[in-house]
Amino acid sequence: TYVVTDNCRGCRYTECVTVCPVECFHVDDAMTYIDPENCIDCGGCAPACPVGAIEPDYRLAADKKYWIDVNRKRATETPVISARLPALPGADERRRALGR
Ligand code: SF4
Repeated sequence: TYVVTDNCRGCRYTECVTVCPVECFHVDDAMTYIDPENCIDCGGCAPACPVGAIEPDYRLAADKKYWIDVNRKRATETPVISARLPALPGADERRRALGR
C-alpha cells in the first residue's frame, strides 16, 4: 500500500485525490490518509504530491514506518475525500521550507 507521511501535514495540497482511481484518500484538518484496504498500489499519487509526502510502504525509512499504522487508523476515523480542497494556509511557505 501507499502511505501519506509527515510532509503532508500542514500542506494538504490534495492533488493525490484527483489521480486516485479508487477513492482511498481520507482527510482531516491537517492532512490526508490512504485507506490500505482500498489502495491498489497503482502508484499514481506519489509523483502527484507537490511535497513528496507519499511513498509505498516498503520504501519508507525506518523512522517513517509508523505512518503505516497512522494511515490505517486515521482512515477508519475520517471521511473520504473525493474532490480537491484548497491547500492549507501557509502550504506554499512550508513547501519552500521543505526544499520543494
Ligand atoms: Fe490511490 Fe493508487 Fe495512491 Fe493507492 S497508490 S492511494 S490506489 S493513487
